[in-house]
Amino acid sequence: MINFHILGAGGAVPTATHSPAAYWVVLDQQELMLDPGPGAMVRLLKSGLAPRGVDGIENILLSHLHPDHSLDLVALLFAAHSPICLSEKPLRIYGPRGLQDLLGKLKDIYGSWLTPRHRSLELVEWEDGQSLELSGGGLVSPFRVNHPQDRLSEYALGYRFQDSQGQVAVFSGDTGPCPALNEAARAAHLLVVECSVPDHFITKGHLNPMAVGELCADSQPRHVVLTHQYPAAAAMDLVAEVGKYFEGKISQARDGDSYQVG
Ligand SMILES: [Zn+2]
Repeated sequence: MINFHILGAGGAVPTATHSPAAYWVVLDQQELMLDPGPGAMVRLLKSGLAPRGVDGIENILLSHLHPDHSLDLVALLFAAHSPICLSEKPLRIYGPRGLQDLLGKLKDIYGSWLTPRHRSLELVEWEDGQSLELSGGGLVSPFRVNHPQDRLSEYALGYRFQDSQGQVAVFSGDTGPCPALNEAARAAHLLVVECSVPDHFITKGHLNPMAVGELCADSQPRHVVLTHQYPAAAAMDLVAEVGKYFEGKISQARDGDSYQVG
C-alpha cells in the first residue's frame, strides 16, 4: 500500500492553500519525508501523521536542492540538536549529487547547531540506477528529470515508489517535459506531477497543463494528482485544463490532501 500525503501543494511562492513543496509518503508502513520545503515540519505535525514529532522522522528524500524543496532541513537538524529530542535512530537523507556539499556549507554557517544530539546523520547521494529497498518490500527508485540546476547540484530527480504488491506511485519533482518521466509514469497507479504554471506561461524546467496532459496521454497513469502550483495555476481549474488533453482521473492537490494506492 502507498499513501501519498500532500503537505505542500505549492512551489516557491506560497498561497494560503498551497504551501511550498512537502510530502509524506508511507510505503508499506515505511514513512518517508519527501522534499522538506519551508514549513514542512509544522505542517507534518499539524496533519497528525507523525505523532512522535521530530523523533519520528527517519528517512528524508530530496528531489533537488532548491530552497522550496529543502529549506526545512535546517529547521529539522536544528531541532534534532535539541536535548528535548531523544531518538537515537539514524537520520538518513537521500538526494542528488551536491547534497554533501550543501550540508557542508550549512555547517560552515551554523557549526555544530545542525548536528543531531543523539542520532547519527547519514547522507546518501544517489548513484545512477541505484534503488533503496525498504524493510517490508517497498522500493524507492530515483530518476533524473529536466530541471535546470546551479552550482550546488547538476541535476534534479523524480521518484518512483513501488510497494510489495507491485503497485506504483511516481513523483515528478520539478521538471520540464522529460522522456524519463514518461517512462517512469507509464501505467503508474498514481502520478503526482508538477503543474506549475498556466498554458500561456512557457518556462524552462516546469510543466503547464498542456505539457502535463501530453505526458499523461502518452503514459496513461491511472490517477493524476497535480501539485507544485504557483499562484496563477493554483487559482485555476487545472483538472479542466489538463482534461483537455487527457481523459483519465485527475485531481488538483491542496495542502492536506491524501491519496492512496492499494
Ligand atoms: Zn520547486
